[in-house]
Amino acid sequence: MHKHVNYSSPMDKCPNCKARIKSTKECYRCGFDFAFTLQCESTAKKFHRQALAYLKHGDLDLALELSSLSEFYYRSPQIEKLKNFILLKQLYHV
Ligand SMILES: [Zn+2]
Repeated sequence: MHKHVNYSSPMDKCPNCKARIKSTKECYRCGFDFAFTLQCESTAKKFHRQALAYLKHGDLDLALELSSLSEFYYRSPQIEKLKNFILLKQLYHV
């Protein structure tokens, strides 16, 4: 895993060196492979949707587990908010 990679920013710049994206395959400047990042993004979205579904059914433990998984693959402000929301719900049993 690359250090200093900001996975929370949208993919309009190279997550590794911030160069403008010219090809969807890899960064023209540093050679960073975007396929992996895009794969992580879509995996994260899948887990995010599942987390929401479990939350809807009141299964907080699974919702938290899946949102953590989602966060692991791709960190976004949305998933952090969701995770905090679930944690608060668990904490106060609301
Ligand atoms: Zn780059």
